[in-house]
Amino acid sequence: MRVLLTGGSGFIGSHIALLLIERGYDVLILDSFVNSSTNVIKAIKTYLDNKNINHSFKIINGDIRDKKTLDRIFDDSAKEFNPIQSVIHLAGLKSVSQSFIDPLHYWNVNVCGTQNLLSTMNEHECFSIVFSSSATIYGLTDSAPITEDHKISPINPYGKTKVAIENMLYDLYKSNMKSWKVCSLRYFNPVGAHSSGLLGEDPIGIPNNLFPYITQVAIGRRNHLNIFGDDWATTDGSGVRDYIHIMDLSEGHLDAIDYLNSKESCFEFINLGSGIGYSVFQIVSQFELSTGLDIPFLVKDRRDGDVAKCYADISKAKKLLGWKPKRSLEQICLDGWNWQKKNPNGYN
Ligand code: NAD
Ligand code: UDP
Repeated sequence: MRVLLTGGSGFIGSHIALLLIERGYDVLILDSFVNSSTNVIKAIKTYLDNKNINHSFKIINGDIRDKKTLDRIFDDSAKEFNPIQSVIHLAGLKSVSQSFIDPLHYWNVNVCGTQNLLSTMNEHECFSIVFSSSATIYGLTDSAPITEDHKISPINPYGKTKVAIENMLYDLYKSNMKSWKVCSLRYFNPVGAHSSGLLGEDPIGIPNNLFPYITQVAIGRRNHLNIFGDDWATTDGSGVRDYIHIMDLSEGHLDAIDYLNSKESCFEFINLGSGIGYSVFQIVSQFELSTGLDIPFLVKDRRDGDVAKCYADISKAKKLLGWKPKRSLEQICLDGWNWQKKNPNGYN
């Protein structure tokens, strides 16, 4: 089965790509490499070669906003009598802070780019899509665990583009309910790395997120971790989040594809998280325990836009997709550290 994976060279996309190829899917990766390195593709090939896995996946260096490129991808597949049967759509911009600085760019890439992709799919009668949404759309809430029917109330332009895309997907589904199959996966905090140490998270510049910041402290690229507040209404005062191993998250996409394949038509929003909330102090302690390393930290003021607790209710994913996270927080720390240790400067 041929799958088009947009954003397949990014952190999440590369792990999904590997899994799809390993499981025998025929994968087309479309990426503009605006936020990823071509070395990711080399790493995927190295892994597959090391494992003697036959592969003929294709990379298309292109932008989801470029209609001609998209048309060509769908046309070429049809000419090969191997049409694209499903799209996993991850391409987009994801920095909350950048989305405040340049909101129009975020709306252009995320929303216009997705509109372009969806109209191309519609024209080429490819009606199956898994979309990467985000828990950020739930906004400032402390009512964890969060179910999918929680109020949608994004507090940053990035989150607003995700809501706009979910609404666009819904309108499209309603316009042709006999054909469209849509699954919008709302990710919580994907972390860790592939167990091979060949793929992992490589943020550009200073990491905004906790986990890559910790691994960069561990490797000596940063002096200490700043902990944003120890006076939150949580058991130890630090913020609580839902960290999910990147491979568990990736497996959720394959289950979502299976789910869509089993349906005539459908539209679902589904949370993907571990379902467990861990505090910053708990993450630091587990990382130290798993790796034997010391993570020096300073407690700083709270960060703007943070909440005390945010973690998922994952019963819908379990019920509909038959999916559940399998990897522990310890595994997350071990795999994340293994990646950072083998690639002190990421992909470069
Ligand atoms: P990433 O930046 O590593 O990957 C995104 C990929 O999309 C990159 O390789 C980038 O080059 C590519 N891209 C960007 N704009 C493009 C365009 N116009 N055309 C083609 N390719 C383009 O990000 P990620 O962490 O892998 O996230 C993937 C998706 O998941 C994003 O849509 C993001 O919003 C969503 N998401 C991520 C998280 C997270 O914590 N990482 C959480 C929730 C949702
Ligand atoms: N955090 C922190 N120091 C950092 C980055 C994050 O203390 O350098 C805290 C943050 O305040 C939150 C948790 O770690 O409580 C997770 O933050 P992250 O940005 O990784 O995820 P998000 O808040 O977007 O869910």
